[in-house]
Amino acid sequence: MSDFDVDFFVIGAGSGGVRAARIAANHGARVIVAEEYRVGGTCVIRGCVPKKLLVYASRFADDFEDAAGYGWTVQNPVFNWQTLIANKDLEIDRLERAYIANLERSKVKIVRSRAVLEDAHRVRLVATGEIVRAKHILIATGGWPSHGADIAGLEHVISSNEAFHLKELPKRILIQGGGYIAVEFAGIFRGLGSEVTLVYRGDNILRGFDDDVREHLRGEMEKRGIRVVTRKIVEAVEKVDHGLCVSLSDHETITVDQVMFATGRRPNVSGLGLEHAGVQLNAMGAIKVDKYSRTSVPHIYAVGDVTDRVNLTPVAIREGHAVADNLFDGKDIVVDHSDIPTAVFSEPEVGVIGLTEAQARQDYARVDIYKSSFRAMKMTLAGRDTRCFFKLVVDGETDRVLGCHIVGPDAGEMIQLVGIAIKMNATKADFDRVMAVHPTAAEELVTMRTKAATYVREAAE
Ligand code: FAD
Repeated sequence: MSDFDVDFFVIGAGSGGVRAARIAANHGARVIVAEEYRVGGTCVIRGCVPKKLLVYASRFADDFEDAAGYGWTVQNPVFNWQTLIANKDLEIDRLERAYIANLERSKVKIVRSRAVLEDAHRVRLVATGEIVRAKHILIATGGWPSHGADIAGLEHVISSNEAFHLKELPKRILIQGGGYIAVEFAGIFRGLGSEVTLVYRGDNILRGFDDDVREHLRGEMEKRGIRVVTRKIVEAVEKVDHGLCVSLSDHETITVDQVMFATGRRPNVSGLGLEHAGVQLNAMGAIKVDKYSRTSVPHIYAVGDVTDRVNLTPVAIREGHAVADNLFDGKDIVVDHSDIPTAVFSEPEVGVIGLTEAQARQDYARVDIYKSSFRAMKMTLAGRDTRCFFKLVVDGETDRVLGCHIVGPDAGEMIQLVGIAIKMNATKADFDRVMAVHPTAAEELVTMRTKAATYVREAAE
Protein backbone atom coordinates (compact mmCIF):
# COMPACT_ATOMS: atom_id res chain seq x y z
CA MET A 1 0.00 0.00 0.00
CA SER A 2 1.43 3.34 -1.09
CA ASP A 3 1.96 6.10 1.48
CA PHE A 4 0.46 8.48 -1.04
CA ASP A 5 -3.11 8.95 -2.26
CA VAL A 6 -1.88 9.98 -5.71
CA ASP A 7 1.34 9.89 -7.71
CA PHE A 8 0.85 13.35 -9.15
CA PHE A 9 -1.21 16.26 -7.85
CA VAL A 10 -1.58 19.13 -10.31
CA ILE A 11 -2.70 22.52 -9.01
CA GLY A 12 -4.38 24.45 -11.83
CA ALA A 13 -6.13 23.07 -14.93
CA GLY A 14 -4.74 25.59 -17.41
CA SER A 15 -2.46 25.04 -20.40
CA GLY A 16 0.47 23.55 -18.46
CA GLY A 17 -1.51 21.68 -15.80
CA VAL A 18 -3.95 19.97 -18.16
CA ARG A 19 -1.19 18.73 -20.45
CA ALA A 20 0.95 17.47 -17.57
CA ALA A 21 -2.00 15.71 -15.89
CA ARG A 22 -3.14 14.00 -19.08
CA ILE A 23 0.32 12.81 -20.12
CA ALA A 24 1.17 11.58 -16.61
CA ALA A 25 -2.10 9.61 -16.45
CA ASN A 26 -1.42 8.15 -19.90
CA HIS A 27 1.90 6.91 -18.50
CA GLY A 28 -0.04 5.10 -15.74
CA ALA A 29 0.25 7.59 -12.88
CA ARG A 30 -2.65 8.19 -10.50
CA VAL A 31 -3.42 11.87 -11.09
CA ILE A 32 -5.63 14.54 -9.55
CA VAL A 33 -5.93 18.03 -11.04
CA ALA A 34 -7.52 20.75 -8.91
CA GLU A 35 -9.09 23.80 -10.55
CA GLU A 36 -10.65 26.70 -8.66
CA TYR A 37 -12.35 28.37 -11.64
CA ARG A 38 -12.81 26.77 -15.05
CA VAL A 39 -10.98 23.93 -16.78
CA GLY A 40 -8.82 25.26 -19.61
CA GLY A 41 -7.22 28.10 -17.70
CA THR A 42 -6.37 31.54 -18.98
CA CYS A 43 -5.76 30.61 -22.60
CA VAL A 44 -9.12 28.97 -23.17
CA ILE A 45 -11.33 30.90 -20.79
CA ARG A 46 -9.97 34.47 -20.79
CA GLY A 47 -6.87 34.63 -22.96
CA CYS A 48 -5.74 33.46 -26.38
CA VAL A 49 -8.97 31.86 -27.57
CA PRO A 50 -11.63 34.46 -26.71
CA LYS A 51 -9.15 37.17 -27.69
CA LYS A 52 -8.62 35.69 -31.15
CA LEU A 53 -12.39 35.36 -31.63
CA LEU A 54 -12.75 39.07 -30.84
CA VAL A 55 -9.88 39.84 -33.22
CA TYR A 56 -11.69 37.98 -36.02
CA ALA A 57 -14.85 39.95 -35.25
CA SER A 58 -13.00 43.26 -35.37
CA ARG A 59 -11.45 42.58 -38.77
CA PHE A 60 -14.75 42.35 -40.61
CA ALA A 61 -15.00 46.14 -40.50
CA ASP A 62 -12.06 46.48 -42.91
CA ASP A 63 -13.33 43.65 -45.08
CA PHE A 64 -16.70 45.33 -45.58
CA GLU A 65 -14.98 48.60 -46.51
CA ASP A 66 -12.38 46.98 -48.75
CA ALA A 67 -14.99 44.96 -50.62
CA ALA A 68 -16.22 48.13 -52.37
CA GLY A 69 -13.00 48.42 -54.38
CA TYR A 70 -13.59 44.89 -55.61
CA GLY A 71 -17.04 45.71 -56.89
CA TRP A 72 -19.16 44.67 -53.95
CA THR A 73 -21.87 46.77 -52.45
CA VAL A 74 -22.23 46.05 -48.77
CA GLN A 75 -25.02 48.09 -47.31
CA ASN A 76 -24.78 49.34 -43.75
CA PRO A 77 -23.29 46.34 -41.94
CA VAL A 78 -24.43 46.42 -38.33
CA PHE A 79 -22.41 44.95 -35.50
CA ASN A 80 -23.97 43.52 -32.33
CA TRP A 81 -21.64 43.16 -29.33
CA GLN A 82 -24.06 41.03 -27.32
CA THR A 83 -24.30 38.47 -30.14
CA LEU A 84 -20.53 38.27 -30.40
CA ILE A 85 -20.07 37.79 -26.64
CA ALA A 86 -22.85 35.17 -26.44
CA ASN A 87 -21.39 33.19 -29.35
CA LYS A 88 -17.89 33.49 -27.92
CA ASP A 89 -19.18 32.17 -24.58
CA LEU A 90 -20.80 29.17 -26.27
CA GLU A 91 -17.51 28.32 -27.96
CA ILE A 92 -15.60 28.64 -24.67
CA ASP A 93 -18.15 26.34 -22.99
CA ARG A 94 -17.66 23.81 -25.79
CA LEU A 95 -13.90 23.94 -25.41
CA GLU A 96 -14.09 23.56 -21.64
CA ARG A 97 -16.24 20.46 -22.08
CA ALA A 98 -13.70 19.07 -24.55
CA TYR A 99 -10.86 19.64 -22.07
CA ILE A 100 -12.81 17.90 -19.32
CA ALA A 101 -13.66 14.96 -21.59
CA ASN A 102 -10.01 14.55 -22.59
CA LEU A 103 -8.87 14.55 -18.97
CA GLU A 104 -11.54 12.05 -17.98
CA ARG A 105 -10.70 9.81 -20.93
CA SER A 106 -7.15 9.69 -19.58
CA LYS A 107 -8.52 8.78 -16.11
CA VAL A 108 -7.42 12.04 -14.50
CA LYS A 109 -9.58 12.94 -11.49
CA ILE A 110 -10.74 16.57 -11.73
CA VAL A 111 -11.44 18.29 -8.43
CA ARG A 112 -13.34 21.60 -8.57
CA SER A 113 -11.60 23.36 -5.72
CA ARG A 114 -8.85 25.73 -4.84
CA ALA A 115 -5.85 23.70 -3.67
CA VAL A 116 -3.18 24.89 -1.25
CA LEU A 117 -0.04 23.29 0.09
CA GLU A 118 -0.09 22.17 3.72
CA ASP A 119 3.47 20.87 3.57
CA ALA A 120 5.81 19.35 0.99
CA HIS A 121 3.59 16.33 0.30
CA ARG A 122 0.10 17.28 1.50
CA VAL A 123 -2.37 19.37 -0.48
CA ARG A 124 -5.58 20.73 1.02
CA LEU A 125 -8.72 21.05 -1.07
CA VAL A 126 -10.28 24.26 0.14
CA ALA A 127 -13.82 23.33 -0.99
CA THR A 128 -14.00 20.25 1.26
CA GLY A 129 -11.07 20.57 3.61
CA GLU A 130 -9.85 17.17 2.44
CA ILE A 131 -6.11 16.52 2.56
CA VAL A 132 -4.50 14.62 -0.31
CA ARG A 133 -1.06 13.06 0.11
CA ALA A 134 0.83 13.36 -3.16
CA LYS A 135 4.13 11.81 -4.20
CA HIS A 136 4.81 14.55 -6.76
CA ILE A 137 3.16 17.95 -7.04
CA LEU A 138 2.95 20.30 -10.00
CA ILE A 139 2.14 23.97 -9.49
CA ALA A 140 0.56 25.35 -12.66
CA THR A 141 -1.44 28.23 -11.26
CA GLY A 142 -0.66 30.75 -14.03
CA GLY A 143 -0.68 34.52 -13.66
CA TRP A 144 -3.09 37.30 -12.81
CA PRO A 145 -3.46 40.88 -14.15
CA SER A 146 -1.56 43.47 -12.17
CA HIS A 147 -2.84 47.05 -12.14
CA GLY A 148 0.34 48.54 -10.70
CA ALA A 149 0.20 51.50 -8.29
CA ASP A 150 -2.94 52.01 -6.20
CA ILE A 151 -4.23 55.19 -7.89
CA ALA A 152 -7.47 57.00 -7.08
CA GLY A 153 -10.44 55.39 -8.80
CA LEU A 154 -8.71 52.06 -9.48
CA GLU A 155 -12.03 50.35 -8.68
CA HIS A 156 -13.39 51.67 -11.99
CA VAL A 157 -10.59 50.05 -14.01
CA ILE A 158 -11.08 46.72 -15.76
CA SER A 159 -8.51 44.18 -16.94
CA SER A 160 -8.65 41.85 -19.93
CA ASN A 161 -10.62 39.43 -17.71
CA GLU A 162 -13.61 41.78 -17.59
CA ALA A 163 -13.18 43.05 -21.16
CA PHE A 164 -14.45 39.68 -22.37
CA HIS A 165 -17.74 40.15 -20.50
CA LEU A 166 -18.68 43.80 -20.97
CA LYS A 167 -22.42 44.29 -21.27
CA GLU A 168 -21.93 46.84 -24.04
CA LEU A 169 -19.27 47.84 -26.50
CA PRO A 170 -17.73 51.04 -25.07
CA LYS A 171 -18.04 54.02 -27.40
CA ARG A 172 -14.79 55.39 -25.95
CA ILE A 173 -12.13 53.32 -24.21
CA LEU A 174 -8.75 54.19 -22.74
CA ILE A 175 -6.30 51.31 -22.49
CA GLN A 176 -3.17 51.68 -20.40
CA GLY A 177 -0.22 49.45 -21.34
CA GLY A 178 2.14 48.90 -24.23
CA GLY A 179 2.48 45.12 -24.27
CA TYR A 180 0.84 42.67 -26.60
CA ILE A 181 -2.45 42.46 -24.70
CA ALA A 182 -2.83 46.25 -24.72
CA VAL A 183 -2.20 46.65 -28.45
CA GLU A 184 -4.38 43.66 -29.29
CA PHE A 185 -7.35 45.06 -27.38
CA ALA A 186 -6.74 48.51 -28.91
CA GLY A 187 -7.10 46.87 -32.33
CA ILE A 188 -10.17 44.90 -31.29
CA PHE A 189 -12.08 47.87 -29.90
CA ARG A 190 -11.06 50.16 -32.76
CA GLY A 191 -12.13 47.59 -35.34
CA LEU A 192 -15.50 47.22 -33.64
CA GLY A 193 -16.01 50.97 -33.76
CA SER A 194 -14.82 52.33 -30.40
CA GLU A 195 -12.78 55.48 -30.04
CA VAL A 196 -9.50 54.18 -28.58
CA THR A 197 -6.73 55.92 -26.65
CA LEU A 198 -3.69 53.85 -25.74
CA VAL A 199 -1.56 55.25 -22.93
CA TYR A 200 1.89 53.85 -22.25
CA ARG A 201 4.57 55.09 -19.88
CA GLY A 202 7.51 54.02 -22.09
CA ASP A 203 8.78 55.67 -25.25
CA ASN A 204 7.07 53.24 -27.60
CA ILE A 205 4.71 50.27 -27.59
CA LEU A 206 5.87 46.61 -27.56
CA ARG A 207 8.99 46.96 -25.45
CA GLY A 208 11.44 44.16 -26.22
CA PHE A 209 10.37 43.85 -29.87
CA ASP A 210 12.52 45.05 -32.76
CA ASP A 211 12.51 48.85 -32.93
CA ASP A 212 11.42 48.89 -36.58
CA VAL A 213 8.45 46.66 -35.71
CA ARG A 214 7.48 48.95 -32.85
CA GLU A 215 7.69 52.02 -35.05
CA HIS A 216 5.84 50.42 -37.95
CA LEU A 217 3.01 49.03 -35.82
CA ARG A 218 2.54 52.31 -33.99
CA GLY A 219 2.28 54.17 -37.29
CA GLU A 220 -0.26 51.70 -38.63
CA MET A 221 -2.32 51.85 -35.42
CA GLU A 222 -2.34 55.63 -35.60
CA LYS A 223 -3.45 55.50 -39.24
CA ARG A 224 -6.42 53.43 -38.07
CA GLY A 225 -7.39 56.22 -35.71
CA ILE A 226 -6.02 54.85 -32.45
CA ARG A 227 -4.54 57.64 -30.39
CA VAL A 228 -1.21 56.42 -28.98
CA VAL A 229 0.01 58.48 -26.03
CA THR A 230 3.49 57.58 -24.78
CA ARG A 231 5.65 58.67 -21.85
CA LYS A 232 2.55 59.27 -19.74
CA ILE A 233 0.62 57.33 -17.15
CA VAL A 234 -2.88 57.32 -15.78
CA GLU A 235 -2.86 59.09 -12.40
CA ALA A 236 -6.54 58.97 -11.46
CA VAL A 237 -9.89 57.78 -12.70
CA GLU A 238 -13.06 59.53 -11.58
CA LYS A 239 -16.65 58.57 -12.21
CA VAL A 240 -18.49 61.48 -13.87
CA ASP A 241 -21.97 61.92 -15.29
CA HIS A 242 -21.28 60.49 -18.73
CA GLY A 243 -18.46 58.08 -18.12
CA LEU A 244 -15.05 58.03 -16.49
CA CYS A 245 -12.72 61.00 -16.40
CA VAL A 246 -9.08 59.90 -16.65
CA SER A 247 -6.28 62.20 -15.52
CA LEU A 248 -2.90 61.64 -17.14
CA SER A 249 0.47 62.55 -15.67
CA ASP A 250 0.72 65.66 -17.90
CA HIS A 251 -2.60 66.89 -16.44
CA GLU A 252 -4.56 66.11 -19.62
CA THR A 253 -8.00 64.70 -18.86
CA ILE A 254 -9.87 62.33 -21.14
CA THR A 255 -13.48 61.22 -20.67
CA VAL A 256 -14.26 57.67 -21.76
CA ASP A 257 -16.79 54.90 -21.08
CA GLN A 258 -14.28 52.23 -20.02
CA VAL A 259 -10.74 52.21 -18.71
CA MET A 260 -8.77 49.01 -19.14
CA PHE A 261 -5.31 48.37 -17.75
CA ALA A 262 -3.06 45.83 -19.43
CA THR A 263 -0.04 46.72 -17.35
CA GLY A 264 1.42 43.27 -16.82
CA ARG A 265 0.66 40.01 -15.09
CA ARG A 266 1.96 38.59 -11.81
CA PRO A 267 2.62 34.93 -11.03
CA ASN A 268 -0.34 33.45 -9.17
CA VAL A 269 1.36 32.46 -5.89
CA SER A 270 -0.51 34.30 -3.19
CA GLY A 271 -2.04 32.10 -0.48
CA LEU A 272 -0.77 28.92 -2.12
CA GLY A 273 1.07 27.80 1.03
CA LEU A 274 4.45 27.74 -0.71
CA GLU A 275 6.15 28.67 2.55
CA HIS A 276 4.70 25.56 4.28
CA ALA A 277 6.26 23.36 1.62
CA GLY A 278 9.58 25.24 1.36
CA VAL A 279 9.05 26.29 -2.28
CA GLN A 280 11.13 29.37 -3.01
CA LEU A 281 10.37 32.36 -5.20
CA ASN A 282 12.86 34.28 -7.35
CA ALA A 283 13.51 38.02 -7.05
CA MET A 284 10.57 38.77 -9.38
CA GLY A 285 8.08 36.84 -7.23
CA ALA A 286 7.83 33.86 -9.59
CA ILE A 287 8.44 30.26 -8.53
CA LYS A 288 12.14 29.48 -8.90
CA VAL A 289 12.74 26.39 -11.05
CA ASP A 290 15.67 24.58 -12.67
CA LYS A 291 15.87 23.48 -16.29
CA TYR A 292 13.57 20.52 -15.48
CA SER A 293 10.95 22.87 -13.98
CA ARG A 294 11.85 21.48 -10.53
CA THR A 295 11.37 23.90 -7.63
CA SER A 296 13.59 24.19 -4.55
CA VAL A 297 11.72 21.10 -3.25
CA PRO A 298 12.83 18.18 -5.45
CA HIS A 299 9.44 16.45 -5.84
CA ILE A 300 7.52 19.72 -6.42
CA TYR A 301 7.52 21.13 -9.95
CA ALA A 302 6.16 24.35 -11.46
CA VAL A 303 5.40 25.20 -15.08
CA GLY A 304 3.88 28.00 -17.10
CA ASP A 305 3.23 31.61 -16.18
CA VAL A 306 3.73 30.99 -12.44
CA THR A 307 7.43 30.54 -13.24
CA ASP A 308 7.50 33.68 -15.44
CA ARG A 309 9.91 32.29 -18.02
CA VAL A 310 8.19 32.77 -21.38
CA ASN A 311 4.52 33.41 -20.69
CA LEU A 312 2.86 31.76 -23.66
CA THR A 313 0.49 28.84 -23.92
CA PRO A 314 2.65 26.55 -26.09
CA VAL A 315 5.53 27.06 -23.65
CA ALA A 316 3.41 26.09 -20.62
CA ILE A 317 2.20 23.03 -22.54
CA ARG A 318 5.74 21.95 -23.48
CA GLU A 319 6.95 22.44 -19.92
CA GLY A 320 4.03 20.45 -18.48
CA HIS A 321 4.48 17.67 -21.01
CA ALA A 322 8.20 17.43 -20.24
CA VAL A 323 7.59 17.18 -16.47
CA ALA A 324 5.13 14.31 -17.00
CA ASP A 325 7.43 12.48 -19.44
CA ASN A 326 10.46 12.91 -17.17
CA LEU A 327 8.64 11.76 -14.03
CA PHE A 328 6.55 8.92 -15.37
CA ASP A 329 8.21 7.77 -18.58
CA GLY A 330 11.88 7.88 -17.63
CA LYS A 331 12.70 10.68 -20.10
CA ASP A 332 15.29 13.41 -19.67
CA ILE A 333 13.72 16.33 -21.51
CA VAL A 334 14.89 19.91 -21.08
CA VAL A 335 12.56 22.41 -22.75
CA ASP A 336 14.37 24.69 -25.18
CA HIS A 337 13.29 28.27 -24.53
CA SER A 338 15.35 29.79 -27.32
CA ASP A 339 13.99 31.18 -30.60
CA ILE A 340 10.29 30.89 -29.75
CA PRO A 341 8.12 32.20 -32.58
CA THR A 342 5.35 34.44 -31.37
CA ALA A 343 2.54 36.58 -32.73
CA VAL A 344 0.80 39.74 -31.65
CA PHE A 345 -2.76 39.79 -32.95
CA SER A 346 -2.79 43.53 -33.32
CA GLU A 347 -4.10 45.25 -36.42
CA PRO A 348 -1.97 44.74 -38.44
CA GLU A 349 -0.63 41.49 -37.02
CA VAL A 350 2.97 40.96 -35.88
CA GLY A 351 4.99 37.73 -36.09
CA VAL A 352 8.52 37.51 -34.76
CA ILE A 353 11.21 34.97 -33.97
CA GLY A 354 14.77 35.25 -32.79
CA LEU A 355 16.93 38.26 -32.21
CA THR A 356 16.01 41.88 -32.71
CA GLU A 357 18.50 44.06 -34.56
CA ALA A 358 19.60 45.63 -31.27
CA GLN A 359 20.20 42.24 -29.60
CA ALA A 360 22.10 40.90 -32.60
CA ARG A 361 24.33 43.98 -32.79
CA GLN A 362 25.18 43.50 -29.15
CA ASP A 363 25.99 39.78 -29.45
CA TYR A 364 27.47 39.40 -32.94
CA ALA A 365 30.57 40.93 -34.52
CA ARG A 366 28.94 41.59 -37.86
CA VAL A 367 25.22 41.88 -38.53
CA ASP A 368 23.47 42.28 -41.88
CA ILE A 369 19.97 43.72 -42.02
CA TYR A 370 17.47 43.14 -44.80
CA LYS A 371 14.16 44.94 -44.70
CA SER A 372 11.25 45.84 -46.87
CA SER A 373 8.03 47.81 -46.49
CA PHE A 374 5.34 47.64 -49.12
CA ARG A 375 1.63 47.83 -49.78
CA ALA A 376 0.12 44.35 -49.97
CA MET A 377 -1.64 43.56 -53.25
CA LYS A 378 -5.09 43.22 -51.66
CA MET A 379 -4.86 46.81 -50.43
CA THR A 380 -4.47 48.27 -53.95
CA LEU A 381 -8.04 47.92 -55.23
CA ALA A 382 -9.27 48.34 -51.67
CA GLY A 383 -7.55 51.72 -51.61
CA ARG A 384 -6.42 51.13 -48.06
CA ASP A 385 -3.34 52.95 -46.83
CA THR A 386 -1.57 50.22 -44.91
CA ARG A 387 1.86 48.71 -45.41
CA CYS A 388 3.51 45.38 -44.58
CA PHE A 389 6.96 45.22 -43.06
CA PHE A 390 9.51 42.40 -43.30
CA LYS A 391 12.95 42.27 -41.69
CA LEU A 392 15.68 39.65 -41.51
CA VAL A 393 18.55 39.94 -39.05
CA VAL A 394 21.52 37.92 -40.30
CA ASP A 395 24.87 36.95 -38.77
CA GLY A 396 27.25 38.62 -41.24
CA GLU A 397 30.00 36.07 -40.51
CA THR A 398 28.10 32.78 -40.88
CA ASP A 399 25.11 34.02 -42.92
CA ARG A 400 22.74 32.40 -40.37
CA VAL A 401 19.35 34.10 -40.03
CA LEU A 402 19.18 35.21 -36.40
CA GLY A 403 15.81 36.90 -36.43
CA CYS A 404 12.75 37.46 -38.57
CA HIS A 405 10.19 40.20 -37.95
CA ILE A 406 6.96 40.60 -39.89
CA VAL A 407 4.12 43.10 -39.60
CA GLY A 408 1.12 42.53 -41.84
CA PRO A 409 -1.82 40.24 -42.52
CA ASP A 410 -1.21 36.63 -41.47
CA ALA A 411 2.16 37.44 -39.87
CA GLY A 412 1.35 34.90 -37.14
CA GLU A 413 0.79 32.15 -39.68
CA MET A 414 3.97 33.06 -41.55
CA ILE A 415 6.24 33.18 -38.52
CA GLN A 416 5.26 29.65 -37.48
CA LEU A 417 6.74 28.37 -40.76
CA VAL A 418 9.78 30.64 -40.68
CA GLY A 419 10.35 29.23 -37.19
CA ILE A 420 11.11 25.80 -38.62
CA ALA A 421 13.83 27.22 -40.86
CA ILE A 422 15.34 29.26 -38.06
CA LYS A 423 15.39 26.30 -35.65
CA MET A 424 17.21 24.39 -38.40
CA ASN A 425 19.84 27.17 -38.47
CA ALA A 426 18.92 28.28 -41.98
CA THR A 427 21.22 30.80 -43.62
CA LYS A 428 20.18 33.77 -45.71
CA ALA A 429 21.45 31.79 -48.73
CA ASP A 430 19.01 28.98 -47.77
CA PHE A 431 16.16 31.49 -47.77
CA ASP A 432 17.32 32.82 -51.16
CA ARG A 433 17.45 29.31 -52.68
CA VAL A 434 13.71 28.91 -52.15
CA MET A 435 11.52 29.82 -55.11
CA ALA A 436 9.03 32.57 -54.37
CA VAL A 437 5.32 31.84 -54.17
CA HIS A 438 3.79 34.54 -56.33
CA PRO A 439 1.80 36.68 -55.76
CA THR A 440 1.99 36.58 -51.97
CA ALA A 441 3.31 38.87 -49.27
CA ALA A 442 5.41 36.01 -47.87
CA GLU A 443 7.52 35.88 -51.03
CA GLU A 444 9.32 38.91 -49.62
CA LEU A 445 11.06 36.47 -47.25
CA VAL A 446 12.98 34.90 -50.15
CA THR A 447 13.38 37.91 -52.40
CA MET A 448 15.09 40.48 -50.19
CA ARG A 449 18.44 40.72 -51.95
CA THR A 450 19.78 44.12 -50.98
CA LYS A 451 21.21 44.72 -47.54
CA ALA A 452 19.64 47.65 -45.80
CA ALA A 453 22.63 47.91 -43.47
CA THR A 454 25.70 46.10 -42.20
CA TYR A 455 26.94 46.73 -38.67
CA VAL A 456 30.44 45.77 -37.63
CA ARG A 457 31.15 45.78 -33.91
CA GLU A 458 34.27 47.68 -32.92
CA ALA A 459 36.92 45.30 -31.56
CA ALA A 460 37.37 45.64 -27.77
CA GLU A 461 40.68 47.24 -26.74
P1 FAD B 1 -3.19 29.25 -16.76
O1 FAD B 1 -3.63 28.88 -18.12
O2 FAD B 1 -3.39 30.65 -16.31
O3 FAD B 1 -3.93 28.26 -15.75
C1 FAD B 1 -3.80 28.38 -14.37
C2 FAD B 1 -5.04 27.78 -13.75
O4 FAD B 1 -4.82 27.58 -12.37
C3 FAD B 1 -6.26 28.70 -13.85
O5 FAD B 1 -7.32 27.98 -14.43
C4 FAD B 1 -6.56 29.07 -12.41
O6 FAD B 1 -7.94 29.24 -12.16
C5 FAD B 1 -6.01 27.88 -11.68
N1 FAD B 1 -5.60 28.12 -10.28
C6 FAD B 1 -4.82 29.12 -9.81
N2 FAD B 1 -4.58 28.94 -8.50
C7 FAD B 1 -5.21 27.79 -8.13
C8 FAD B 1 -5.31 27.06 -6.91
N3 FAD B 1 -4.68 27.47 -5.82
N4 FAD B 1 -6.06 25.94 -6.90
C9 FAD B 1 -6.69 25.50 -8.03
N5 FAD B 1 -6.62 26.15 -9.20
C10 FAD B 1 -5.88 27.27 -9.26
N6 FAD B 1 -0.52 33.02 -25.03
C11 FAD B 1 -0.27 32.63 -26.30
O7 FAD B 1 0.55 31.72 -26.51
N7 FAD B 1 -0.91 33.20 -27.36
C12 FAD B 1 -1.84 34.19 -27.19
O8 FAD B 1 -2.40 34.71 -28.17
C13 FAD B 1 -2.13 34.61 -25.87
N8 FAD B 1 -3.05 35.56 -25.63
C14 FAD B 1 -3.36 35.92 -24.36
C15 FAD B 1 -4.33 36.89 -24.16
C16 FAD B 1 -4.65 37.29 -22.89
C17 FAD B 1 -5.72 38.34 -22.69
C18 FAD B 1 -3.99 36.70 -21.78
C19 FAD B 1 -4.35 37.12 -20.38
C20 FAD B 1 -3.03 35.73 -21.97
C21 FAD B 1 -2.70 35.33 -23.25
N9 FAD B 1 -1.72 34.36 -23.50
C22 FAD B 1 -1.43 33.99 -24.80
C23 FAD B 1 -0.94 33.78 -22.40
C24 FAD B 1 -1.47 32.40 -22.03
O9 FAD B 1 -2.84 32.47 -21.76
C25 FAD B 1 -0.71 31.89 -20.80
O10 FAD B 1 0.67 31.94 -21.07
C26 FAD B 1 -1.10 30.45 -20.47
O11 FAD B 1 -2.47 30.33 -20.25
C27 FAD B 1 -0.32 29.99 -19.23
O12 FAD B 1 -0.73 28.70 -18.87
P2 FAD B 1 -0.54 28.20 -17.37
O13 FAD B 1 -0.81 26.74 -17.40
O14 FAD B 1 0.74 28.66 -16.83
O15 FAD B 1 -1.65 28.95 -16.52
